[in-house]
Amino acid sequence: MSELNDLYQEVILDHNKNPRNFREIETANFKADGYNPLCGDQLKVFLEVEDERVKDVSFVGSGCAISKASASMMTQVVKGKSKEEAEKMFDEFHRMVLGELDEETEENNLGKLKIFAGVREFPARVKCASLSWHTMNAALHGEEEVSTE
Ligand code: ZN
Repeated sequence: MSELNDLYQEVILDHNKNPRNFREIETANFKADGYNPLCGDQLKVFLEVEDERVKDVSFVGSGCAISKASASMMTQVVKGKSKEEAEKMFDEFHRMVLGELDEETEENNLGKLKIFAGVREFPARVKCASLSWHTMNAALHGEEEVSTE
């Protein structure tokens, strides 16, 4: 567990310092604003979807290290996936951080996202970790705004 904690810290710090896909996409056909009033995290997620596949995905905004690192990793794993796969990953990630999915025993596609499993111990942090996922999912469903409250 402490090894996982170390990895978690390392990944969060890395992505927070150097967020991936941190830019706007001018040709985005889906985008949404996400807000987590509990912490003050504010993100905007952009998606360029072609033939039901996520060709490009990015985010901008400001927030705590967890929300930014999670958004950064979300863009990495969703890029290249089909819309359906992206929605499935949202569902798995969401259930994992809520403690409804056991990432070790249940089949899932979470891979390196498993490092976020620990946030389930910290209810206030669950919303930080899942904000970008909620926002991505809302964008894909044509919603332009999402709030975690
Ligand atoms: Zn936060």
